[in-house]
Amino acid sequence: MRSLTFALSLSLCCSGILRSEEKAPPALQAGTATSNITPPLGGEVVGGFLPFPAEHIHDELHARCLVLDDGTTRVALVVCDLLGLHRSVAVEARRLIEETTRIPASNVLISGTHTHSAVSALGDAPRPYASDTALNDYQRFVARRIADGVRRALTVRRPAEIAFGSVEVPEHVFNRRWFMKEGTVPVTPFGGTTDKVKMNPPAGSPDLVEPAGPTDPAVSFIALREPGGRLISVYSAYSLHYVGGVGPGHISADYYGMYCEALKKLQKDYDSDPPFVAMMANGTSGDINNINFVTPRGRKEPYEQMRYVAEDVAAKVNSALTSVTWQDHAPLGARYRELGLAWRKVDEDLLQWAKETEAKASRLAKPDVPTVYAGRIQRLALASPETKAPVQVLRIGDVCIGSTPCETFAETGLEFKKRSPFGKSFLVELAGGYYGYLPTPRHFDLGGYETWPGTNYLEPQASVKIMDALLEMAAELKGGETK
Ligand SMILES: [Zn+2]
Repeated sequence: MRSLTFALSLSLCCSGILRSEEKAPPALQAGTATSNITPPLGGEVVGGFLPFPAEHIHDELHARCLVLDDGTTRVALVVCDLLGLHRSVAVEARRLIEETTRIPASNVLISGTHTHSAVSALGDAPRPYASDTALNDYQRFVARRIADGVRRALTVRRPAEIAFGSVEVPEHVFNRRWFMKEGTVPVTPFGGTTDKVKMNPPAGSPDLVEPAGPTDPAVSFIALREPGGRLISVYSAYSLHYVGGVGPGHISADYYGMYCEALKKLQKDYDSDPPFVAMMANGTSGDINNINFVTPRGRKEPYEQMRYVAEDVAAKVNSALTSVTWQDHAPLGARYRELGLAWRKVDEDLLQWAKETEAKASRLAKPDVPTVYAGRIQRLALASPETKAPVQVLRIGDVCIGSTPCETFAETGLEFKKRSPFGKSFLVELAGGYYGYLPTPRHFDLGGYETWPGTNYLEPQASVKIMDALLEMAAELKGGETK
């Protein structure tokens, strides 16, 4: 092989072709594109406890796409302004991407931001507990727009340098699960009083004792720029559930979209062609929100708080960009698995409670909390024995991004950062599908909203099994197998 290479270079040299070949092929290339995925008005906004119709679009929803190419391997990262996306939407988008770009489906990471002001890409309500579903019109549209965005990003790829950074922004993240004084945790919708913690307790309440878990204050990011030149993209992740505070019936990308716009405006050449594309994925925020429970803040105008958070996080990431180290090489790799986790088991007593509760409910009134759970529990009891829960790990140079298809707790993200064989690692949640909340076994013992069947869909050991799979895949990528 060596002599053949030598002979080839000699003949190229003698024929004078080498002059144009002298420059080594670009070590790393990157391209970005943004697809609009705003739905028509009238669809049901899904972030609240009960859906309501979309009446106004405050700001457009997007699928932001980044493609990286190391000369051998390509990976794509997509962040969608959605509450989440059903596995079947991700499967269809990745199928279309593989068909049109030949980027392997396993190398495409697609996640939702968790904006609560979007219509559903999870499927028609009532939501089925199933890994496969026929797509409705909006889901098909989203899958196609994601695939087109990745294809366009590939078209505009160009030589790039890459850097990793992380900046602590603790002031916007609060653990929302609290231990409370004995006897002050309310009853569950199922009538029992077994919960030891309360999600979203009254802010400033004298009954608060302490949060039941940590926060992860880091904004992790991967930045791409033209060699020595302007930014191509910044892919970021912060562990904040969402901010909220939108107008009535509004569609909005929440702080995620505002962050992307704010970071863009901080670049002096932000409107160059092709444009800089910022991305904000959700880290691990299943138990984290933007409410300061100890010192409640006053009332704010619609969009005021989300703009404040977005602009502050963007400013901090922008200033962290000045101290990163740029490289022109980043070996790429990906691993993707679908885990056959068990759906949350519904025992006979609970199923009986659900049937009786539904039978008692008035057909005319708006369903109350117990009635909503009664429906969810009966559907959960009908789920097939196993899920196909997607988990994925990308290697981008010496950085590792893992993903889960659940609303994942901050401590799970912190554990991955600590145990990953890569020094620079972070998790992105709500990727490749949507499988409800993912409390750790410790939190199942504590109870609370995120652990109730119908809010949680998966077996209590799911977080442990997902972590094991992520670490195994990360170790494989660390071992240099990048196929
Ligand atoms: Zn949520």
